[in-house]
Amino acid sequence: MSATRARLRGGIDLGGTKIQAVVIDGRNAVRGTARTPTPQEGGPPDVAAAMADTLRGAVASSGASPGQLIAVGVGAPGAVDEATGDVAHSGNIIGWQGSFPLGSTLSADLAVPVRIGNDVDVATDAEYRLGAGKEFRSVLGVFWGTGVGGGLILNGQPWTGRGAAAEIGHVVVVIDGLPCGCGRKGCMEAYAGRGKMEERARHELAKGHKTSLFEIMEKRGKDRLSSGVWADALAEGDKVATHLIDQAMWALGAGVASANNLLDVDAIILGGGLGTRFGQPFADRLAREMQPHLFVSDRPPPVLVAALGDLGGAIGAALNAPARAR
Ligand SMILES: [Zn+2]
Repeated sequence: MSATRARLRGGIDLGGTKIQAVVIDGRNAVRGTARTPTPQEGGPPDVAAAMADTLRGAVASSGASPGQLIAVGVGAPGAVDEATGDVAHSGNIIGWQGSFPLGSTLSADLAVPVRIGNDVDVATDAEYRLGAGKEFRSVLGVFWGTGVGGGLILNGQPWTGRGAAAEIGHVVVVIDGLPCGCGRKGCMEAYAGRGKMEERARHELAKGHKTSLFEIMEKRGKDRLSSGVWADALAEGDKVATHLIDQAMWALGAGVASANNLLDVDAIILGGGLGTRFGQPFADRLAREMQPHLFVSDRPPPVLVAALGDLGGAIGAALNAPARAR
């Protein structure tokens, strides 16, 4: 089959700030990509329309015709019903409170079958099959971004428990510690999630501690402390940024090592906005922070940076697209 007439699968990664789409061919090679901002007003129907448009952009960028698209997969945050394609409680997406039939809406718009999966699960699957985890049978994916997500493959099989497994961000690292977005206290995410780190940085600033974090944010034209803002502040030795990142690494070390004491996986894969931005030096640092907490400390698991970078979620979504056309 010639490359231009290949049957393509689409993948859409729905995030709180951006929608990333890819199209992949039968060999799982990326043939086209597109990225748009997530709508910050309106509701789920507006988000679904933007997702479909982004995917059409990815198809166009591949040079393929829309008819070559045979199926689409989606990675979405929140509570995903994989059987129905409904998505509920996508708290990071503005205006997404109740349940919305994302799968059937996209399928009607794009005229192909659509399967919805959990964003972190599909990203872990992509790393396991095509990325940093492809040499291993059991991997733990740690996605360090606005929150801290986790995905788990055990002996070649995704492990989702009763639907809520691998929520590594909510492993408790300090009993009665800082409040977490989930309503509990002392979770790893309360120390390491970018959202919580930004709250703490604002608090430090209000207390009169000097930090250039928010000046860098304005210079970069951002309205939040993105991964790039943190990276710049660390590079200039900003004290508040350095302290908060130190605490994040300390929390990640304790939480990920504790998870590994339970699971003893072949490898830890560090992804997410902060993980991919900071790269292998921070994966190495995570390995060092884990070391004192590992039960079998002379045989630590390798800690690797997600190889597919910020396309991993969309690639994993495409791998999860329904196999047969309607
Ligand atoms: Zn929590």
